[in-house]
Amino acid sequence: MGSAGRLGGVVALVTGGGSGIGRAVCVRLARDGARVAVADRDGGWAGEVREGLSPTPPPLHAAFAVDVASQDSVDAMVARVQDHFGTPPSICVTCAGVTRDEFLLRLPHNHFDEVLSVNLKGTFLVTQAVARAMVAVGAARGSIVHVGSIVGKVGNVGQANYAASKSGVEGLMRSCAKELGRFGIRCNAVLPGFIRTPMTARVPSKVIGKFAALVPMGRLGQPEEVADVCAFLASEDSAYITGASVEVTALLRERLTSQPNHLIGSLTDCSRAT
Ligand code: NAD
Repeated sequence: MGSAGRLGGVVALVTGGGSGIGRAVCVRLARDGARVAVADRDGGWAGEVREGLSPTPPPLHAAFAVDVASQDSVDAMVARVQDHFGTPPSICVTCAGVTRDEFLLRLPHNHFDEVLSVNLKGTFLVTQAVARAMVAVGAARGSIVHVGSIVGKVGNVGQANYAASKSGVEGLMRSCAKELGRFGIRCNAVLPGFIRTPMTARVPSKVIGKFAALVPMGRLGQPEEVADVCAFLASEDSAYITGASVEVTALLRERLTSQPNHLIGSLTDCSRAT
C-alpha cells in the first residue's frame, strides 16, 4: 500500500524502531501509507530499517538517533522530525525498551533506575514532546500508542524493575488519554505477551518451550502480530478508542495468572541458564 493506504501520508514516529517490535511497526505503518520517522538509540539500526522501508531516499521516510531517557535528546529529535517532514508526527508508537533481569534480592539499584529511565521516563518524555508539538500546531487529531507489557499487569519473577516500569506505562497512558482527549489526541497501549525478538532471543530454548506450552495456540507471538494491533490503534479505524490497553498475549496472561508456580520454575531455569 502506498500513500493511498489508511494512513495516507501521515507522519508516524516510532521509537525503538531499529529492532524487534518497533521495526515491525515501522514496516506495517509504511505499508499503510505513513511517512515513518524511525527513531532508535542505535542510529545505524534505524538507518537500516529506513532503507528497508523504501528504496527511495529521504524525505519519504527518515531515521533519527535518540536516547529516549534524555529530555534534550528527545526534544531535539522531535524538532528534527518536524523540520524534516514539515509537520509534527500525528502518530507516535513508543517501542523503545530494555530489560535488566535479576531477582529482587540481588537487583542492583542502577539496573532499577536504568529500566525505569528508558521504559517509563522515556515513554513520558516522548509522549510529552510529541503531544506539545501536536497541540502547538493545532493538529486536528493524533494517536499515541505505548508498548507496555503483560508483565506490568501480572508481575514476573526476575523482573521487578521491568514490571514496575510497564505498570507505570499503563498509568501514564490512561492519564494522557484523559488530558489529551480535548485536543483530539488519543492514547492507548498494547500489552504484548512473549514475542520472538532480540529482547527474548537470549532466553534458553528450554524456557521458550515452557512459555509456548502455556499458550493454547502453542507458540510465541511474532513482532508483526503486535505491529498489526499498533497500526489499528494508530489509525482512524480505532477513532473512538482511547485510554485502552489491548493485550496481545494469545491467553498467556490467563495462564500466567492461574499457574504462577509454573512460571517461577521457568524463570528460575532461565536465571540459572544465563
Ligand atoms: P528489542 O530489543 O528488539 O528492541 C528494543 C529497541 O529499543 C532496540 O532497537 C533498542 O536499541 C531501542 N532502545 C533501547 N533503549 C533505548 C533508548 N534509551 N532510546 C532509544 N531507543 C532505545 O526489543 P523488543 O522485544 O522489540 O521490545 C520492544 C518493546 O516491546 C519494548 O518496550 C519491550 O519492553 C516491549 N515488549 C516486548 C516483549 C517481548 O516478548 N519481546 C513483550 C512485552 C513487551
